[in-house]
Amino acid sequence: MKNSISRRKFVTSTLGAGTGVLIIPNISGLTNQKSDKVIKPMIITSHTNDTGRNAMEAGWEILKAGGTAVDAVEKAANIIEVDPEDTSVGYGGLPNEHGVVQLDSSFMDGKTYSAGAVACLENIKTPSSVAKLVMQRTDHVLLVGAGALEFAKAWGFREENLLTEKARKIWLRWKEELSPSDDWGVPEHLQNIRKNEAYWKDFPDIEHHYGTTNVLAIDINGDIAGCTTTSGMSFKLNGRVGDSPIIGAGLYVDNEVGAAGATGRGEDVIKSCASYYMLLKMKEGRTPQQACEDALHMIIDRYKKVNPGFYPGEKFVAINKYGELGCATMIGKSNPQMSVRTESGYSKYEGVVAYPGKP
Ligand code: ASP
Repeated sequence: MKNSISRRKFVTSTLGAGTGVLIIPNISGLTNQKSDKVIKPMIITSHTNDTGRNAMEAGWEILKAGGTAVDAVEKAANIIEVDPEDTSVGYGGLPNEHGVVQLDSSFMDGKTYSAGAVACLENIKTPSSVAKLVMQRTDHVLLVGAGALEFAKAWGFREENLLTEKARKIWLRWKEELSPSDDWGVPEHLQNIRKNEAYWKDFPDIEHHYGTTNVLAIDINGDIAGCTTTSGMSFKLNGRVGDSPIIGAGLYVDNEVGAAGATGRGEDVIKSCASYYMLLKMKEGRTPQQACEDALHMIIDRYKKVNPGFYPGEKFVAINKYGELGCATMIGKSNPQMSVRTESGYSKYEGVVAYPGKP
């Protein structure tokens, strides 16, 4: 790219003085020239519940005070990770097939081209902070399992039981219903009268099998950072690593372009290098919205040849360096959303379903 960050001329706008509104004049290097485009610090997350909103407010406080995108992203991700009610991320996340919570997370700093990640990390509530330290305090990118835990403990993280009662019961129910031919569940002679229904009354359904959060931010200097953090696919095989800690798959950030993150069935995201693909598309001049949809179509193009009816559940989010937004899911009944916090306040951005009506 022609424009390095150090050669960019950032000019503080008189509009919204003191809020860090920036104008980048005559940026070249992208095919869709956006000269004199006003950009603003911002933070987004794929989480749209109350915790996601709280996370955005906390991240925004950091950005508003002139803090870095890296710090804002970490703060926001931590808030989502420690929510015990959230069964998709950090503490309270659904466990693997053995009932053990194994967390994956990645961090990327678009300013320094640095990345860090942890996979299959057990007993640490905030894997995104460990991923950030791998990025900032080692010469490596990915630490896994026992090594990741050892590293976290060296940095003073406390080991804690991550399996909440809620997550344990969901796992136990999955275990009982997994197969009619194993010995989990009520005795065979009582199966027809379903004696155990009352026992599961608070857990009528096995909860979703996916769930992750992406947090992406642009700070007052135009620096971009991102994090993806998850407990991964629920009931996964012991040791399974998803896309979230794989740089280029679950996350990619580049100051010159923007940032992208993925949630959903990680196996497809890994094979398609989806986040990197979205960055390449944005660099070619596609908007973040188009880039998200392009990546979903690219995955379906691959599967067309082997199984034309296969539409894996993925959700992609993206931002470009001008603060434009994108969000798309492969399938679903309603349009996907993401949380956005800028100087204008909190809002939800609504994206599109790429293949509406598909199973
Ligand atoms: N992408 C995550 C994984 O495959 C799960 C999810 O986002 O739902 O581990």
